Amino acid sequence: MPNLKADLHIHSCLSTCGSLDNSPQEIISRAKEIGLDVIGIADHNCTFNAETLFNIAKQKGIIVLPGIEITSSEEAHLLAFFDSPQKAKKFGQIIFDSLPDIENQPEKTGDQVICDEDENIEFVDKYLLNASKFSFDKLFTMIKDYGGVFIPAHIDRASFSIVIQLGFLPPMRYDCVEITKAESANQYSEYNHIANSDAHYLEDIGKRYSIIEAEEATPESILKAIREGKITPVFSPITNLK
Ligand SMILES: [Zn+2]
Ligand SMILES: [Zn+2]
Repeated sequence: MPNLKADLHIHSCLSTCGSLDNSPQEIISRAKEIGLDVIGIADHNCTFNAETLFNIAKQKGIIVLPGIEITSSEEAHLLAFFDSPQKAKKFGQIIFDSLPDIENQPEKTGDQVICDEDENIEFVDKYLLNASKFSFDKLFTMIKDYGGVFIPAHIDRASFSIVIQLGFLPPMRYDCVEITKAESANQYSEYNHIANSDAHYLEDIGKRYSIIEAEEATPESILKAIREGKITPVFSPITNLK
């Protein structure tokens, strides 16, 4: 039973606050260099780079869980992951289409870049950091219907967490909850915990990670292990991180 080192909350060059250096190729090289077995791609409110990352990772012997970081209508962030890039793509399109039609202003917020396997690039014009029209509750049902895992993001952080937006964590059957420091585990002891970097820059990948005890090194098996709580969060950088 492999113990997989996983950092599931990584943004690519699609996320405006991100850097143009974090292209799919660069993310995979970096993840491999520092010794991660699994990475999750969680760009804000869209999945346009997920398939490219999935394909590059396959060639390099790393597993990508294609996913998304959604902003609910309450302005709370949550993570969803799927076992195939096709599912992530379909689901991501629904979220993208639900964003208000407001244009990105690259001079203020940076570019939102789609990058293919040959590093051809394209820009996304719609601003990706607005809230989707779907509520936290509704997203829970939608993600479950798509066979995904649902993880409230950085619930112990002061910005864009469901706890900050509502004042409490709604009691729901989360697959796990993402926390950023060990001290938070006690406060949310009724749930399983996961730690991730939430990296918007290459050098932040692997700053926090989790050990996932999956039966096999496949996306399906990793999602199953997450649902079963076979996760140990690590709140310090992965050993090979330079
Ligand atoms: Zn977030
Ligand atoms: Zn994030």
